[in-house]
Order: sequence, then structure tokens, then C-alpha cells
Amino acid sequence: PPGPRPPTTTTRTTCGYCGVGCTLEVLTRGEETVAVLPARDGPVNRGHACVKSRFAHAFRTSPERLTRPLLRRDGRLEPVGWDEALDHAARGLRAAVAAGGPEAVAAISSARATNEENYLIQKFMRTVIGTNSVDNCSRLCHSPSAAGLSAAFGLSGGTDSFDDVERADCLLVAGANPVEAHPVIGARLLQRVLRGARLVVADPRAVGLAGHADVHLRPRPGTNVALFHGLARVLLTEGLTDEEFLRERVTGLPELAELLEDYPPKRVEAITGVPAVDLVAAARLYGRAKQPAIVYGLGVTEHLHGTDGVRALANLAILRGAVGTGRGYGVNPLRGQNNVQGASDMGALPDLLPGYQKVTDPATRERAARVWGCEAAEIPARPGLRIPDMFAAARAGDLRALWIIGEDVCATDPDATRVAQALEACPLVICHELFLSETARRADVVLPAASWLEKDGTFVNFDRRFQRVRPALAPPGQARSDFAIVHALAAALGADLGCATPAAALAECARLAPLFAGVSHERLDREGALCWPVPDPDGPGEARLYTERFATADGRAHLAACPYLPPGEEPDEDYPLVLVTGRRWAHYNSGNMTRRTGNLRLEAVDRLDLHPADAARYGLRDGDPVTVESRHGRARLTVRICGETAPGQVFCAFHFPASGVNTLTSGHADTVTSCPEYKVTAVRLLCDRGA
Ligand code: SF4
Repeated sequence: PPGPRPPTTTTRTTCGYCGVGCTLEVLTRGEETVAVLPARDGPVNRGHACVKSRFAHAFRTSPERLTRPLLRRDGRLEPVGWDEALDHAARGLRAAVAAGGPEAVAAISSARATNEENYLIQKFMRTVIGTNSVDNCSRLCHSPSAAGLSAAFGLSGGTDSFDDVERADCLLVAGANPVEAHPVIGARLLQRVLRGARLVVADPRAVGLAGHADVHLRPRPGTNVALFHGLARVLLTEGLTDEEFLRERVTGLPELAELLEDYPPKRVEAITGVPAVDLVAAARLYGRAKQPAIVYGLGVTEHLHGTDGVRALANLAILRGAVGTGRGYGVNPLRGQNNVQGASDMGALPDLLPGYQKVTDPATRERAARVWGCEAAEIPARPGLRIPDMFAAARAGDLRALWIIGEDVCATDPDATRVAQALEACPLVICHELFLSETARRADVVLPAASWLEKDGTFVNFDRRFQRVRPALAPPGQARSDFAIVHALAAALGADLGCATPAAALAECARLAPLFAGVSHERLDREGALCWPVPDPDGPGEARLYTERFATADGRAHLAACPYLPPGEEPDEDYPLVLVTGRRWAHYNSGNMTRRTGNLRLEAVDRLDLHPADAARYGLRDGDPVTVESRHGRARLTVRICGETAPGQVFCAFHFPASGVNTLTSGHADTVTSCPEYKVTAVRLLCDRGA
């Protein structure tokens, strides 16, 4: 048989899966994707890519792809034309505002959408509806990073360019499994270790990098803050701190030193289960390194005290003088979704306008009004609802219209049964989607959306890097980009949002947000990528932050004296195991894209990782079906017996909504940001051979 026909077009774009931001070359012929290849000169991936971008693109032509708008009639979703769908949505929004005021409408924007789309959505909510109730799914993953890093250093992003890892001589990787969740970064970290860097892994599971670690700290889930305080105390008591840096550029040392009196290694061992000897060894490795680096993930943030976890981790870099000095790769979060950073950068947040400007600040609203051509009084001053509050308001009957842009909240949000109840209680749910997801099934208006391979715009990756996204292919059927849909819905309401193209939207955002003042499509096309802040149209971005002063009000880094507090749930007699959820290498979040590709052959179901000792206790074998039950719900999974989880702990992903994993997870959430506590749920197993 003839081989594949050669491509005719190569499009350079940015991966739409995880937040690493790999630069890709999409080879197409007509409407056919011939191959997706890593760009050799990609600034982050340097010629590498993973199993998701390379092979998980067949979803684009899946027969299940939505190609026409759908409208619910008599309880069923039926295909209709765009005009009818938009008219129905517009009438529903008007009715919601008429009945409950602007606060009766909310929008969940998407970390998978482009910056320009997120910018437009927040502008729509603030100027057309008149509410700040717009949020994005970073609420559910890295909102504690935003809160913790900005409190410690002043800005809501990682402190350095990942290139600085190349100089690191000790890596502390905390609560992250980059080998599976961010494979290109996992490979670069491993390369660094193989070239001689020491490695400390802090994670309850024996994740991919742990096998290469000098010290693997395995805290009980939910005890990070105590663990990091234990490390900080060793740095202090053994003189492994940067005295000059602490004196010149830091506040909060006396308070932290006093708090750390309560965290001697033996007490930390009692709380976390980490042997004191390992704690001390890890602290000495980090503390004696010339160029220490911290990389962390959702294992730090998705906790009842996730923001405290970020602050306690930041304490280590501050004590060591490893941030803002060029002596180390400070504190850097690995972002889960392709544009988690950008969605928040663009102001799809209930309290912040683009560029992290407080909506409560009159001067900020004045600036926005000048750029948007409206009166400052028209921009609401009161912060809007966060995602969990939107669901609560819908259940209470206070939210009458919810607009969900590309998020499968019924599959990915915690306590999913109550999320579904919220959608059922809300009179109007509008959903943009690629497929009839668990959420779209419950919507009243479903609008077919373009995928990342079909869009024009930009993403911001995990190290604050603006990169171009270019359409390699046209959306199928009548599907449109989220950008076009937002404009069309505004027009259906008689409003004109301006900025007709993605380039114009980013240019407008640049006028509004000083952090991004020098960013433009034209510049990105010419120069390739820019790390924010980019305050000047001609100046470079700042890959490494805080070299002269921190962006806090006093210009100093702030240590945090936050005491360890226990998680929302702990195992007991009824629910004796702790469930941790996360990701597998072949799939991405709800799996709506990757399940419709050949990657299904690599991972066909959600599996429950179980330690051999627990498997023996329950009489379970590899591949057995098992029911997992928490206080909130029930999931059906397939047992995978492995040594990665510690005894008493189980792990699973949430890539297959049919398994119902997020009916298990609780409503406990970070006390500062409302980020759910996905990493600690008390569960029990129900099985035929049950113990
Ligand atoms: Fe895409 Fe992330 Fe894989 Fe890079 S590592 S190719 S950004 S999924």
C-alpha cells in the first residue's frame, strides 16, 4: 500500500496540552494532520515532545466532534443553527439579569483557551453583563501558587526561567510527577541529575524521579507545611542560610524563627512520617548547594492549606538566598494545563483585572475604562464569585445563568455529584465544547468550539513565556473559536467588544496591563517568545525576576510564619485509606481529547494504584475491579498493584469520567483561594474478596 502522502504545509505553534509550552511543527496536507513534531529550536522543549502532542491529535477528526450548535428542547439536545442558539443564549442572559441582576450570571473561563479568548471573556462579563463573576480553572490547581508567590515575592508567577535549571546543583522537586505530567520537563530534570545535580524528591508516592533521588521524602498526604518547616529549621539551626540576603532583602525572619522552634526533626517525623535522618540529609543537600532549585506541582497546592504550603516552600528559597540573586532557580510551579498562567494573567479572575490589577482599586478601574471606552462606574468594583461559590449559588437558586467555556466541570471538579446538581438547578447553562462532555450533556445551549490546533492567539507557559498559537487547520463543520463565539454572543446582546482579532485583543490588553505592555503578536512572530514582565515595547522580557528588588510593597521578600494545620480529612476506622489523585502520562485531565486518540491503547481505564500489602489485606489481584467509596461518593476502578504508593494510600487519575473519580473528592478547599483538596480524601474499598 502507498505510504502516507507528504505534507504540504508546516505550521509552527505551541502545544495545547500541558503548561510546559513545547513548540511544535504541525505537518498537514489539506485537512489531514500528517504529523506533529517537536521544533528543534523550541525554547523550552529543544527538539523534544511527549506522547500527548506527538500522537494525541486524532481527536480533531473524531466522529464525536461537535460540529453544530445544540439547543435543549423538551429535555433533549437538538442541532440548530448558530443564530437560533445565540439568540436563545442571549435571551436567557437577559432574563437572568432581569430576574437577579448582573450577579445572577457567572462565567467559567478556560486555562485551555488562548490569552486573547480569556481577555475577551473577562471583558464581556465586566462590560456587557456588569459582574466580576468570571473565574478560570486555575482556581482548582494553582490558585495557591498565585496567592503564595505574590505574597512572598510580589508577582503571581514562577521566579525564574527554566533555563536556570541547567546551572542547578541541587533540585528539590516537591509534589510533582513531571515524568508523567510534564514529560519534557521531567526529561530535562533527569538530564540535569544524570550530569551531576543532587536530587531531593518530596512526594508521598515513589514517582518517576524518586528512583534517581539522593533523598526521597515521603510525607503523609496533607503534611507538606510541617515538612517544609522541618527543612527550614535545619537550614536555620545549621547556619545554612544567606545572612546578608536575609538582612538586606527579607522581612519576617524573627517570626519564622520563633515558629520553627516547634518543628524539630523528631516532631516533624511524628507529623509527616518522614524519618528525621532523611529530613536532615535533604536540608543539608539543599542548604549546601551553590545553585539550589525548587520545582513543585499540585501535590503542594491542592490542599486545605495549599497557599501555606507554597509559602513554606518559598521560605526555603528565601532562607537560602536562592531567589532574585542569580544563585539558584528560586521557586517554580509546574503548570498543569497549557494556559493556566495566561488565563489568570488575562484577568479571568473574580478579583483581578488583566495583569493582576485589583478590581477594587478605583485607579485600576479608571485605567480599564479609558482602554475600554466606558465609564469607570460601569465596571463593577465588588469581586465576583469563585468557581465553587458559583456552584453553591446555583444550588441556592441565586445563579440563573452559567457560561462554561471548554471546562468539563462535571468530570474534573471535586464533589462532582454536587456540581451536577448545581448545573441542573441553574436555569441557563451555556457550554462551549469539542465533544458532548459530561458537562455539555447537562447544558441548555452547546456551542461547537475550535481546538488548539485550529486557533490563533497566544499561550503563557509555566515560566511566564508568551508564545504564539497558530491555526494549522480549520475547525470542522460549523465549529468556531471561543474568540469568535464570545464576539457573536456579545453581538446577539447588542454589544460590540471591539478588538476584532486576537492580535487586537492582545494589543488592547497590553495597553491596560503594565506587566504585558511590550507584548504583541507582531513582536512574538518576530522574536519567538517573551517572558513577562515585558514593560517596554522595545525591551526584553524578564526571564529571571527580582534581581534588584522584590515586587512587594516594601521591595523585600516575605517569609511566612504559618503553622502546620491538618488536612480536611484523615483516615479513620470507617475510611482507612487516603486517596491521592493525579495524572497518567498518556492522558490529559478529563481525557476528552486523549481518549479519542490512539493513546487509549496506552491507558484504557482509570486504575487504582494499591500497595502490595494493602492488596493482600483486601485479597485483591492486579486487574480486579474495585469500588472505592468516600464520604462523598463512589467510583469503580481497576486495581493496579504497585510499590509507587505507600501502604495505607491509594492513587488514581481522573481521565475517564465513567469511573466517577471526582464524586469521591471532597468540598474541602484551600482556606485562602478555594483550591480543592484533591490530594487528601479518606476512602475505603468495597470488593468481592473484601477484608
Ligand atoms: Fe505538550 Fe506538555 Fe508534552 Fe510538551 S510536555 S509536548 S507541552 S504535553
